[in-house]
Amino acid sequence: MNPFIELGIRHDIVNAISELGFEKPTPIQEQAVPVLLTGSNDFVGLAQTGTGKTAAFGLPLLELLDFSQKHPQALILCPTRELCLQIAKDIEKFAKNTPNVHVVAVYGGASISDQLRQIRRGVQIVVATPGRMLDIIGRNAIDFSGVKYVVLDEADEMLNMGFQEDINNILSTTPEEKKTWLFSATMPAEVRRIAKNYMTDPFELTVGTKNSGNANIEHHYYVIRARDKYAAFKRIVDSSPEIFGIVFCRTKIETQEIAEALIKDGYNADALHGDLSQQQRDKVMKRYRDRSLQLLIATDVAARGIDVNDVTHVINFSLPDEIENYTHRSGRTARAGKTGVSISLVNLKELGKIRQIEKVIGKSFVKMEVPKGADVVGKQLFALINKVQQVAVNDDHIDPYLPQIMDSFAELSKEEIIKRFTSLEFNRFLEYYQHAPDLNVDASESRENRGDRKGRSERFGRDGYKSDYTRLFINLGSVDNFTRGDMLGYICNNTRISGKAIGKIDLKGVYTFFEVENTSVDKVFSGFQQVDFNGRSVRVENAGDSHGEKRSGGKSYRNSGNGGGEGRKRRDHNGGGGFRDFSSKRREKSRW
Ligand code: ADP
Ligand code: MG
Repeated sequence: MNPFIELGIRHDIVNAISELGFEKPTPIQEQAVPVLLTGSNDFVGLAQTGTGKTAAFGLPLLELLDFSQKHPQALILCPTRELCLQIAKDIEKFAKNTPNVHVVAVYGGASISDQLRQIRRGVQIVVATPGRMLDIIGRNAIDFSGVKYVVLDEADEMLNMGFQEDINNILSTTPEEKKTWLFSATMPAEVRRIAKNYMTDPFELTVGTKNSGNANIEHHYYVIRARDKYAAFKRIVDSSPEIFGIVFCRTKIETQEIAEALIKDGYNADALHGDLSQQQRDKVMKRYRDRSLQLLIATDVAARGIDVNDVTHVINFSLPDEIENYTHRSGRTARAGKTGVSISLVNLKELGKIRQIEKVIGKSFVKMEVPKGADVVGKQLFALINKVQQVAVNDDHIDPYLPQIMDSFAELSKEEIIKRFTSLEFNRFLEYYQHAPDLNVDASESRENRGDRKGRSERFGRDGYKSDYTRLFINLGSVDNFTRGDMLGYICNNTRISGKAIGKIDLKGVYTFFEVENTSVDKVFSGFQQVDFNGRSVRVENAGDSHGEKRSGGKSYRNSGNGGGEGRKRRDHNGGGGFRDFSSKRREKSRW
């Protein structure tokens, strides 16, 4: 007999999931389904991503709800719109042969009227991100008084994203006696607290994964604009002074370009790719092994089988085309029982790929913030101090010089000497990071992307939906007697763009940073061509291009004009799409 039938699932549903390739239940399904089918418990399920949680709650819901009725009976809350769509689609697939099942996906960033229409037509299962859900509740457009089950999917992630209060508000519109099922990959104190607040004596289930990858690897990701990628990458490297890393790129050209840019910028780096002769490759590898290189920039193929111990970081400068390669890449670190970090640099559109990778590797990624200029400076400073403490002093060699050295410092106090020696090294970073902008994608933008209501009203309050902004630099500031209002007027007059297209204006002494809608950037550049201010020619530049992100002397990567792939024009050339072969179910199934 089909094992799902034994669990208590109806034939029409079992037939549908067989077509999806579900032959036998995953561990969490096996253990959760019988409990949930009773419909009489609150429930907490802890399992890594990719363990089949959607079916673990989706299948019981299909058994428990009354589909002859057309009012909402189950509400599934989840953190992102991608997940929301995924869950809704999955449940529809499970219900392929089951008549009258209506599922609606409610998430931000898409037309609300379509969603309202679907709700009006009658739905039993609502899958929603918290922001848009509250929006709809606020319009009195949905009646949750008949809800029997609430599912909190990826509860840890929802709390990470600050949805606690929204969830409280949503749940307060559902009946007291409903059952709550909470799913999470981890059980931090906040999740435990929610479980306590919302549930009575929940049934708790923890399921370990068989295939959790190397437990010694931490997976981090940074969300940045494509055009800031190289600058962000350098900050990450600079804030890990002891880094010994492999940097993965997707193409030979990208590999070569990044390596060249890094070398120009003063790093010990080199490229490893298929266009090199065997001899050249051996030479690069020898230098890396000997640690005369700190960063090895490589393609997937060239790096296959690299067995260097003590690699501290794997950096995915570009995510691999195929998910499997992520595992190969990250496996270059944390070898021989050591620990390591695998870092991915992604833009907002690539967040879905991170989620897909999480499923395959069965581990959660941690979202990291790109270090601020001051953080990097601090890290470097303390690395320097550490070096001073550790340095091996060769008395025999230095002794002959000592009297003269001591003599020349005789006038300086100990504090003064320390300050000067430290500054020697420190000034370089200080100068470099002095005007370094924040490279993290604005939190309000990412909330918007996840369908959150607040994020949008703050950022898009003035006239509804707006596209992304670009931060520009202009060589006029408060010393030229500008106020922010003056600056706004001045920009509008010269460029003939509307004030609405201009975002934050950050007025400094001799210059100003200001944000402009991407679609108006070109107008700003052309508007300020050959404009003079008190005899001085006015200069406008992309703020990311040349301010604060260039090591002295080096030409910046983005300015090199050879199509590095991160310039403004080519931005997001790979954004959006998923992995090439993710549709392949075979790969997924092989995990159990
Ligand atoms: P989670 O929510 O735990 O991260 P999902 O429910 O999204 O995991 O499932 C991950 C993948 O595994 C999906 O592609 C899903 O279709 C597949 N899957 C789930 N259950 C089974 C099963 N019993 N047999 C085969 N594949 C399954
Ligand atoms: Mg899930």
